[in-house]
Amino acid sequence: MSFPNFSSNKQSKYMEENNIEMLFSFIENEHVREKLKGSQHRITKSFNQLFAGYSLKADDILNDVIHVENYTGIIEVKKINFYSYCEHHFAPFFGQASVYYEPNVIITGLGKIARLVKDVHGRRLQIQEIMTKDIAEDIMRVLGAKGAFVETTAKHMCMCSRGPSDDTTETTVTYGCGSLIDMKR
Ligand SMILES: [Zn+2]
Repeated sequence: MSFPNFSSNKQSKYMEENNIEMLFSFIENEHVREKLKGSQHRITKSFNQLFAGYSLKADDILNDVIHVENYTGIIEVKKINFYSYCEHHFAPFFGQASVYYEPNVIITGLGKIARLVKDVHGRRLQIQEIMTKDIAEDIMRVLGAKGAFVETTAKHMCMCSRGPSDDTTETTVTYGCGSLIDMKR
């Protein structure tokens, strides 16, 4: 699968000169103002950061592991802030994720779980439901966990500022696998 990659100078230049200018002319429906032209470089840099998740893999993040024996507890990493982009409307959504897992023979650093949410999955074009599932499945696959459960709660700008224009609504998604498939918070 190929992912967008704005990291090379050539691609960044192309993006600045063509795509963003086209976007501006679509929005203002006229010749692009000089001032907006100055924003093109900033937007490209911003996209590099906002969508940096495509260059990261769960396998690379969850690599710092500790071996455990007869571990029967559940590890809970709660209220991890994330920022992402709705792929339906290209509008931000953001909120918090809580990750629970029952390890098998390995556990990972707690900060690694936060990075999995924020850096690997948050910084992509996403659908909240799919993001929640993918985080749980990465924990199962990379850590060989007995079970994983992920809950995300987010505010979607595509619902707040357009469409239903409801800025109080939040969306919660839960996804469980393995021994935690039926876990409900
Ligand atoms: Zn949306």
